[in-house]
Amino acid sequence: MSATTSVAIIGGGIGGLTLAAALRRRGMDAVVYEQAPELREVGAAVALSANGNRVLHELGLRDGLAECGAVPTELIYRNWGSGARIAAYGVGADYERRFGAPYYGVHRADLQKCLARVCGDRVRLNHRLVDMADSGNGHRLEFANGAVASADLVVGADGVHSTVRRWVTGEETAVYSGTSGFRGLVPAEQLPSLPDPGAIQFWMGPGAHVLHYPIGDGSVVNFLAVVHEPEQWAGDTWTERMPLEEISTCFDGWHPGVREMIERTSLPQRWALFGQRPLNHWYRDGVVLLGDAVHAMLPHHGQGANQTIEDAATLAECLHRADREEALARYERLRRARTRAVQRSSWTASDLLHLPDGLRAEQRNRALENIPATLRWIHAHDARATAAA
Ligand code: FAD
Repeated sequence: MSATTSVAIIGGGIGGLTLAAALRRRGMDAVVYEQAPELREVGAAVALSANGNRVLHELGLRDGLAECGAVPTELIYRNWGSGARIAAYGVGADYERRFGAPYYGVHRADLQKCLARVCGDRVRLNHRLVDMADSGNGHRLEFANGAVASADLVVGADGVHSTVRRWVTGEETAVYSGTSGFRGLVPAEQLPSLPDPGAIQFWMGPGAHVLHYPIGDGSVVNFLAVVHEPEQWAGDTWTERMPLEEISTCFDGWHPGVREMIERTSLPQRWALFGQRPLNHWYRDGVVLLGDAVHAMLPHHGQGANQTIEDAATLAECLHRADREEALARYERLRRARTRAVQRSSWTASDLLHLPDGLRAEQRNRALENIPATLRWIHAHDARATAAA
């Protein structure tokens, strides 16, 4: 793409920052416009698998990630009540050898800081995009703070409730999944009943599951507890405060290690989990979508951020190698089928993780012996090399 072409990235989340860093590394300039007054996400972490970390290593984040990320010992699936180990797979040194990059649990704020360092002074905070128009010579962008900017290419990296999406697909809104989650960070020393706090673990039970993994120096456990309710999500926002006792009631009878985690959360609120119907078009007239804006998925494969990072590496490589239209067509071609498959799989996982004890749960448990094959098709992928091929 021509060196004079300007790129505006809407959204300074994981996708927007990774794209800006990847373009910068290729000598292309991009400005990130983020609506928040600072880059931070409270109380939430993210699990980064080899397919995401490989890209981040290439962007120069190897040391930064090693400093702020915890490598889990194993991936373990357990029964909700008894805590029995159903399946397990090593994700330490052997995983890194097999997939070419480590698995990390990282606090989002730490990841954003690492990425922001690579992006330098190209991030504009307090800039919420409210309108956009074709200026005949690119796009005119209007922000809520009164600022105006122009760009030849606009990238919508503005998350599941994307504003930019409507310029590409019309009014295509996110879909509520019928599931919601509670998240929290708890010091491992406050979880005496939790077996293997250093592992990434799924606890599977009737109508609910809990996922947790260590972050940072391993002394803190991040968890996400998901329940199959409420049926409808009525609110305008995607979170609602909830008394801790009510959250705890959802996990009556669960293993004491799980209950300890839930009862010690400092974030007593419910997060509605949204997904996105697969989109047939990812770009139109110099506006292109990336990450949750185009393929929001349920978090049950730990892949939303990782697929977003893959998108960013792919888009940067395509823009580096071809003119705009060809680059966008190639980007869509390379990313659509893969993200759709992961998306579909994340919805299936949601049902499978919530089965009551019984025949179907036993079938699922036997199928979990296939974890290595599942991990291979998702985690071994090298997005940049694929785009460069
Ligand atoms: P976001 O991270 O949502 O960033 C979008 C940014 O755009 C935000 O900073 C927002 O403020 C900004 N923005 C929005 N509108 C505007 C506007 N109009 N103007 C300017 N800025 C705007 N994925 C994993 O890979 N591993 C995990 O372990 C994992 N755990 C998860 C747990 C939960 C509970 C949830 C809900 C998701 C999880 N995910 C996980 C998914 C992951 O968080 C997302 O897929 C990922 O953050 C998407 O990145 P993004 O950059 O596309 O969007």
